Amino acid sequence: MTANVKLTPMLRQYLEIKEQHDNTILFYRMGDFYEMFFDDAEVASKILNITLTSRNNKSDAKKVPMCGIPYHAAQNYLAKLVRAGKRVAICEQVENPAEAKGIVKREVVRIVSPGVVTEDDLLDDKSNNYVCAVTRKETGKQFLFGLSLLDASTGEFLVGEFQDDTGKGEIVLDQLTRLTPSEILINEDTHNELSPLLQSARILLPDLCITERPDSLYHYESLQDQLLDHFQVTTLDGFGCRGFSTGVIAAGILLDYINETQKAGLDHISRITPIKLDSYLQIDDSSRRNLELTQTIIGAKRDGSLLAVLDQTCTPMGARLLKHNLLFPLQDRTEITQRHDCIGFLYQHSGTRKTFRELLDSIYDLERLTSRMILGSGNGRDMLAMKQSLGQLPTVLELLQKCSDVRKLEEIGSRFDPLDDLYTLLEKGINPEAPITLRDGNLIREGYNSELDELIAIQRDGKQMILALESTEREATGIAKLKVGFNKVFGYYFEVSRIHADKIPEHYIRKQTLVNAERFITPELKEFESKVLGAEERRLELEYQLFTEIRSKLGGESGRLLDTARELAAIDLFCSLAEVAQKYNYRRPNITDDDTILISEGRHPVIERSLPAGQFVPNDVLLNHEDQQLLIITGPNMAGKSTVLRQTALIVLMAQMGSFVPAAAATIGIVDKIFTRVGAMDDLRRGQSTFMVEMSETANILNNATSKSLVILDEIGRGTSTYDGLSIAWAVAEELVGKNDIGVKTLFATHYHELTDLAKNQDRVQNFSIAVREWNETIIFLHKLIKGGANRSYGIQVAGLAGVPDHVVDRAQEILKNIEQGGLENRGNSPASHPVQPKPRKKKTHPDQLSLFQPPPDRIHDFLASIDPDELTPKKALDILYELMDLVK
Ligand code: ADP
Repeated sequence: MTANVKLTPMLRQYLEIKEQHDNTILFYRMGDFYEMFFDDAEVASKILNITLTSRNNKSDAKKVPMCGIPYHAAQNYLAKLVRAGKRVAICEQVENPAEAKGIVKREVVRIVSPGVVTEDDLLDDKSNNYVCAVTRKETGKQFLFGLSLLDASTGEFLVGEFQDDTGKGEIVLDQLTRLTPSEILINEDTHNELSPLLQSARILLPDLCITERPDSLYHYESLQDQLLDHFQVTTLDGFGCRGFSTGVIAAGILLDYINETQKAGLDHISRITPIKLDSYLQIDDSSRRNLELTQTIIGAKRDGSLLAVLDQTCTPMGARLLKHNLLFPLQDRTEITQRHDCIGFLYQHSGTRKTFRELLDSIYDLERLTSRMILGSGNGRDMLAMKQSLGQLPTVLELLQKCSDVRKLEEIGSRFDPLDDLYTLLEKGINPEAPITLRDGNLIREGYNSELDELIAIQRDGKQMILALESTEREATGIAKLKVGFNKVFGYYFEVSRIHADKIPEHYIRKQTLVNAERFITPELKEFESKVLGAEERRLELEYQLFTEIRSKLGGESGRLLDTARELAAIDLFCSLAEVAQKYNYRRPNITDDDTILISEGRHPVIERSLPAGQFVPNDVLLNHEDQQLLIITGPNMAGKSTVLRQTALIVLMAQMGSFVPAAAATIGIVDKIFTRVGAMDDLRRGQSTFMVEMSETANILNNATSKSLVILDEIGRGTSTYDGLSIAWAVAEELVGKNDIGVKTLFATHYHELTDLAKNQDRVQNFSIAVREWNETIIFLHKLIKGGANRSYGIQVAGLAGVPDHVVDRAQEILKNIEQGGLENRGNSPASHPVQPKPRKKKTHPDQLSLFQPPPDRIHDFLASIDPDELTPKKALDILYELMDLVK
């Protein structure tokens, strides 16, 4: 693109900088604009929808494509490019153009990429924005994957290592889909090794930006040193990373990347947390999606997910923690119970909760505010937001001290740092009216700095001060008519009439002699003059300097700020869960280490919200290892089988994340993994056939479920012929109940009534069904789980309810009757050769809309039927309209 172009010095500088940032779009600062040239201009102009122009470089040379954006509107354009998955290098003028010899020096000061943004308008405040790095190492027959994730806007830094037999990195993929990073860093030379993982990641996370890093960076020793140096430690063992190797490389690569892109302090990254999957309730990606934990299957919306029901948090930190806890439920009984204690307390003490929530409502995103202080991008508005937030802390602490009966809240209270000193700094230092811009003054409060006060006073009271100086000098000299004057040549001067020449003090310096008067200056007057004249400029500069000093001070206290932010997030989370528990009538579950799950009157937390109050039919579920380990659940479509299955999984998950649950009572023996196999619509994304996906998920369950797991199987074996399907379903059920002689707790919804025979010779298998009532020719769903298998599937009635034409439904009934009489092999014989004539049938009413009474006669209809429009005059038509209105009323 640059060939044949004769370069001006400016373009030469541009290209030198561009060469070092070749996989970014370079924003090249020229005065009030960021300019883009060559390919960058062509790409960016399309994304930003701005005009592509060209610059006449040298008269005889090729034109250079270019486009530009005003620097003050850069945020919006930046956001658009980053959302389009681009990385943008921001190149500023780093010397004053007036003082520059030759071309102005320029440097890239920051690189903004999808994974490394700290700008508010580019971030979703309820979710973390992670950049991640993945590494892979071959160890004999196995593979070891390293994964590290970092949220530059909050400082959260995670690292993990995972064994993998296949080399495809399924476990890593699972973490990626759980934490949904925006950008992934990979070694440019190991692209191929990671390609199966990347391929799947691209499909499951279509917005993921893939950034290649040079192979030369990937050195364990130097990266480890970089990490040790950053955390100022001699080993990473203290963080729980003992024995990590390839994980350390991934973490080091991230730290290096942040260093390169942010080029500013990284103090907020103050610890690294290992991802230890064993301590969490594991739930794979497809189960997370099937259960609609954070978004719905259809439309990927937050509304309609469990998260949306549970999230009543007041602060972004609380919302992020809630989402995290939902994705990482626990297995540790003590920790879970402690969380329940907090919710229980806040549930009962609703006054305390209310006050907490009012305080939290006035607290901004302290984590992201802090990171902006560290990165030097915080503005006046950020300072005021921080001040307002810190202003609430003493009351939060007071309130915490009233919660000391609960261990966890007491601990939070004892650690809680109300940051009084930082509040005072902001209170004293920042002007309550501070604007967003940093170069226009009004940032610093009067009284904070004496020099600034003087400058402000000079500007504001310039006239008064001149008069004051005048009267001081009159008194000192005894010359009553001494005057202060100003002209452009000498600036300020004292003017004294000649008759007082003898009273002129010695330190007065004569500047001008007029006919009747003489003009003098004094060092004091000149000092004053330079103050007044330079006051404006100096004031802006000083305010900026003081402001950045305050910002750095806050940045330097990031450890304390972030600790407090974390405590606030926890308080917010507990208050939110207590609020939800009270609002939606959830109960505290009893958590045990044994293997029983007993749910009385359980409800589906999301579906019950979509129904009018009291309409959701609660159900009891008991699962144990004695006599109710595998429940075969039969019942027609739409009866509520999936709902019972899903609500059981959700209640277990909610309990283990530390929430109360939608049930009258629940005892939850801690579960290690939840597996679900429900519907296959979502998996088609990965390009496999439905049946193949179903079977590979079933294989995963059979291979990995333990006696502590909960398995939810909805209609397995449907994607193949009836006999195949039934046989597979049967064998899978048998395997689950017999696995390792202990078996796995399983809810098994099926259409195959034959499966109910399994209970005859398997003690731990029980049959259940969802009750329906027959009504005329149709059925009513009671949604009640009852003991015993269903004896009919009512498929034909459900088809009728779904709007399949009556004659097709009738024909189906007839075929069914025939099959029942003559067996399956007679299916195609007599009935098919005598197609039935559609017979007129009563219109069915959907059971959900059943009415006990006949509808009242429709008078409007009758009235309209009696009108002949062709006979009407306009007047008559108007009268009819009025009559109709009366009828409606
Ligand atoms: P199935 O799996 O048997 O086909 P679903 O569980 O999908 O049926 O339930 C179908 C619909 O029935 C749900 O979307 C919901 O509207 C309603 N439903 C299910 N269970 C209940 C219940 N316990 N109380 C009220 N409505 C329910």
